[in-house]
Amino acid sequence: MSVDVQPIHHHEHHHHTRVGWLRASVLGANDGLLSTAALLTGIAASSASSQALLLAGVAAWIAGAFSMAAGEYVSVSSQADTQKADLAIEAREIRKNPELELLELTRIYMHRGLEESLARQVAAQLMNHDALGAHARDELGLTEMAEARPIQAAAASGLSFSLGAIFPILAVLLLPREELLAGLYILTLFLLTGLGGLAAWAGGAGVWRGAARVLIWGALSLLATTLIGHFLGANGG
Ligand SMILES: [Zn+2]
Repeated sequence: MSVDVQPIHHHEHHHHTRVGWLRASVLGANDGLLSTAALLTGIAASSASSQALLLAGVAAWIAGAFSMAAGEYVSVSSQADTQKADLAIEAREIRKNPELELLELTRIYMHRGLEESLARQVAAQLMNHDALGAHARDELGLTEMAEARPIQAAAASGLSFSLGAIFPILAVLLLPREELLAGLYILTLFLLTGLGGLAAWAGGAGVWRGAARVLIWGALSLLATTLIGHFLGANGG
């Protein structure tokens, strides 16, 4: 019997968690690719050597990956702190004023459409079962009681950035210096289009529109740094 039900349930679950995770990774890779490639096209448009380009590319990659990881760590940690503080307040209230908290939960269920006696019954039974859980879910809106993992989030963020940053660095290693600027443009815009489409697909949006959006911003970024590299690089020698 569960065979008929499971695929639908599974699909729902898939769309909410796995795809959200995929989308975050794609956006991270997008960041790594575009920021490293834009920096490198700027330097490649000057008279810098392959060695200087490689150094700049690796430095941009490491700096970017750590910056992304640190940002994610701080964001997830402070989110977890806020949740913990909210839960602590809620737990104290439940201990001190259980009647008031029961009334609060009853009102929430009435607001959602239950009649008073049933709402009170539901609230009482849920509080009997797991008072803090019921308040966390229905009052605070914390659907995920699982603890946040800042270290894992930081590592995932740094890794997805690195996955994008590695491609322009490989281009510096593999392409001859005189073909590098054109090569960086082709490689970066090609990969950005793919990543933009993938991110749009993961977010349930139009694939072509998502790809075009990323392509336009990517091309603008590369052009801007190319111009800067061209003029500043020429002046500097
Ligand atoms: Zn409460």
